[in-house]
Amino acid sequence: MLYSDPQDDGFFRGDVYPDGPMRPPQAVQRGSLYNGRGDPSTPGWPSTEGARRLPADSMAIPRIPVLPIGYANAEQILGRLQGESVPQEWQGGLPFRYHLGDGSVTLRVAVWPERGERAYKTIMNTFGVIRGSEWPEELVIAGGHRDAWGPGAVDNVSGIVSLLEAARAWGTALEAGYRPRRTIVLATWDAEEWGLVGSVEWVEVMAETLRRQAVVYLNQDVAVAGRNFGASGSASLHQLVYHMAGTVLQPGDTVSVYAAWRRRLEEDADDEPKIGNLGGGSDFAGFYNHLGIPSFGFGFGGPYGVYHSAYDSYEYMTRFSDPGGLSHAAAGTLVSVTIARLANADVVPFDYKDYGSHLASIMEPIRDQAEALGWDTEPFDDLLGAAEELAQSGTRFNEARDAALAIGSLEPALSAEVNAALRMVERHMVRPMGLVGRPWMRNLVFASDRDNGYATIPLPSVSEAIRGEDEALMRREIEDLVAHVREAARAVDRATGELEEG
Ligand SMILES: [Zn+2]
Repeated sequence: MLYSDPQDDGFFRGDVYPDGPMRPPQAVQRGSLYNGRGDPSTPGWPSTEGARRLPADSMAIPRIPVLPIGYANAEQILGRLQGESVPQEWQGGLPFRYHLGDGSVTLRVAVWPERGERAYKTIMNTFGVIRGSEWPEELVIAGGHRDAWGPGAVDNVSGIVSLLEAARAWGTALEAGYRPRRTIVLATWDAEEWGLVGSVEWVEVMAETLRRQAVVYLNQDVAVAGRNFGASGSASLHQLVYHMAGTVLQPGDTVSVYAAWRRRLEEDADDEPKIGNLGGGSDFAGFYNHLGIPSFGFGFGGPYGVYHSAYDSYEYMTRFSDPGGLSHAAAGTLVSVTIARLANADVVPFDYKDYGSHLASIMEPIRDQAEALGWDTEPFDDLLGAAEELAQSGTRFNEARDAALAIGSLEPALSAEVNAALRMVERHMVRPMGLVGRPWMRNLVFASDRDNGYATIPLPSVSEAIRGEDEALMRREIEDLVAHVREAARAVDRATGELEEG
């Protein structure tokens, strides 16, 4: 039996619905305990008609029936448990001491499992495609999940609204005779909540095409839960996010989204607002963790206590998250113009100076972990050197790009060459064999945590070797990672070379 403790998102955090936006006692947080990605009967290959499928007893799925309940019901059960006290950090917000139970309380749960053929359901992704005028084979992809646990006004009608608004805007432009230079693909994914099923299976079907042709993936999951802008994504896209946030008005304000973002965080004059790292809890996983396609997502956040419950409704949205629909309008605008920038730029706006510096910064805490174990941390010097090399390659590229663009637009053929090289930079950060024990997770820079699909683990091949206390493996993994980072730097250099020759 699982419940969301009021200490996490209930009365402990704020007034509960209908007086406030936090979780009321009856609200059940649904979710998936399956910690894989995609259809569990076809791990790593497409779940198409007639596909080979694992038998149910070899699927990586939970074996214990699970039922989520609200904290009103949890109080009735937990309050009766005797025996040993829970560890202090397990104590929550209910008004009694939590105990582990001594076996004297019995709970009866009725379970009706769906097995065999009846457990399979047909799901449907949808696509809207605008063919590019100049480089039709280059794909700018934006998507979000259409399924929800209940009404799902925040998660994820809001993301679908922002994508549909972008579709409407681009449709209007198309009717007026305006076509993007690259191809735009707008997708809605099914069965994300069950384990990213729709997007992952599509990525597995399309893997070869995406590997060659995908420029970027923009995810829209929880686009609106309030007014506070936030983003996460590959460091190569941070500059793009800052720039685009500066082009759209903050909902209900007279300054840009970017200005409101900085004002809220009270950043120092030269610090940009922080952008998070992608973990694995949404539909970017197939693109980013599996194929190494630069990916990002953004939205407007706020206090949101009704996650995955029946209270995530239109009523909730209009009362608490977005009265007047202003954040929805801003999210839709931001998606539209961000797609425009990505689909039309002479040089796709990736920044590998930022990417290299970010890589250098995320290895620090990992080096500290190795040091705490008393291990030799010298291999990290090579890794730091490679990351700095990549940042320098990025700096050289940025200078060559700015110089070339200062003279005028690039010839489309030259753009195609430069962008083809840029497109491959992050592909070098994946390895075909994947992580040890997790072949589907191929990105060596970020993966979702082994034990928590929502959490991010930086430099997973190295981190997991440390977690497994295997120093020799850590050394081998660092050596391998260094080779990948150097390959990425050479891909940036190739893009620079194309620009300088052109
Ligand atoms: Zn969602």
